[in-house]
Amino acid sequence: MTGKILIVDDVATNRIVLKVKLSAAQYQTIMAEDGNQALALARRMQPDLILMDVLMPGRSGLDVCAKLKSDPATAGIKIILITALDDNDSRMAGLDAGADDFLSRPVDEAALLARVRSLLRARDQERELHLREATFAELGFPDDNSSSKKSTCVMLVANTRTASKAWLDRLENRGPKGIIYGTGDDALKLTTDDNVPDVFVISVDQQERNGGLRLMSDLRSRATTRHSAIIIVLPHGDSERAATALDLGANDISYEPFLAPELAVRIRTQLERKTRADRLRATLDDGLRLAVTDSLTGLYNRRYGMHHLERVARQCQETGTDAAAIMIDVDHFKAVNDAFGHLVGDQILKEIASTLRASLRGEDLVTRIGGEEFLAVLPDASVAQARIIAERLRSGIETLQLPNGHGGRVNVTLSLGVTMLSDANHDLEQILQSVDRALYQAKATGRNSVVVSA
Ligand code: GH3
Ligand code: MG
Ligand code: MG
Repeated sequence: MTGKILIVDDVATNRIVLKVKLSAAQYQTIMAEDGNQALALARRMQPDLILMDVLMPGRSGLDVCAKLKSDPATAGIKIILITALDDNDSRMAGLDAGADDFLSRPVDEAALLARVRSLLRARDQERELHLREATFAELGFPDDNSSSKKSTCVMLVANTRTASKAWLDRLENRGPKGIIYGTGDDALKLTTDDNVPDVFVISVDQQERNGGLRLMSDLRSRATTRHSAIIIVLPHGDSERAATALDLGANDISYEPFLAPELAVRIRTQLERKTRADRLRATLDDGLRLAVTDSLTGLYNRRYGMHHLERVARQCQETGTDAAAIMIDVDHFKAVNDAFGHLVGDQILKEIASTLRASLRGEDLVTRIGGEEFLAVLPDASVAQARIIAERLRSGIETLQLPNGHGGRVNVTLSLGVTMLSDANHDLEQILQSVDRALYQAKATGRNSVVVSA
């Protein structure tokens, strides 16, 4: 992973030490020796990440951090503040100023590189989210939906249930709403429910050493919790396993004994990121759905219908089963439009669509492939069954009493062509040709009829 990193420290040897470590890991580095220079370079060079000493003469690291995070042009840059060991006051002030992480002197190389990797990964993901949000906005997708109103949930998993409860007590009411607690087993059981935790805070050691890391992998392998954020809590100073946890995909880490306000901020940051990503995924789902459905009838559209037909044909070829395709066209529909108007025509098409759908089995699919043309695909059907079903569709529409929009009723009829898909007949072009031929015959022989291709 490449990245541009700005190193800010008033002591030259500190800058050099960091530069050597980061350059060895193939990062590009820039250096600044005071706060003002850092501000100017951050704006001009747009680094991905800033490593900054807190204590500097003149403008402090905290001050620079607050300035960068409050300016939209630089707010996305990740910032790691370097503090004296256990300088809790600076850490809290740093969090208030919007810092993403902390390291203490002397800087441990493994911890530094793991932090850098994890923050650059987060930065990449955020950029990607941002890009997609912009694309969706340009495409006119709605940027809001019901999933954003879903309540959030956080789960605390220390090494025993009592210890998890103790974490909750320590957080008091600083954390967000909806915090639950339990054991690792509880966490795995929860994942079948609807309200799966958005964020897990997990102790690195469970009943056995590193059990928290295994729990993390387990949660990541399940569909329901794959996107949940995970914060791993480690014993004080265990920077070696912190590096492992981050590289295994932990979104953040924290150390025991944690400071309640600090953990609360970390949880909130992860919650925000998760909610935003969920919203984007839901928008994408909506967008995909729109791309394959027909807005008038709500049926799948031609694009989806053809794809589905092809898939069923392939299945016939692979498994040796038979399936049927039915091409359906409304008779003299132009006359209906001419007599009652296009809007009435639309209502009639909707009615036809829902009647067709209701007359088919669950595994059958009817799609609208053109103006007044529909295609039904019936997997696992014999020719006799296909004929019966087509006949049922025909008579079902014939007997509908449709409002004509002028106080009266109108009847419409269908012509249907049927062809079989089989091991021998699985070519999409051929299938479409023979089903069209059958339909044409149904039209030619007086309409309101079913023709099965030979
Ligand atoms: P037939 O199929 O029996 O030969 O006659 P037809 O009149 O149905 O066939 P044709 O292909 O000549 O015309 C199809 C008509 O369907 C033309 C168009 O006005 C109407 N139509 C197509 N799409 C829509 C639609 O979305 N809404 C409405 N209201 N009418 C549509
Ligand atoms: Mg037509
Ligand atoms: Mg027609």
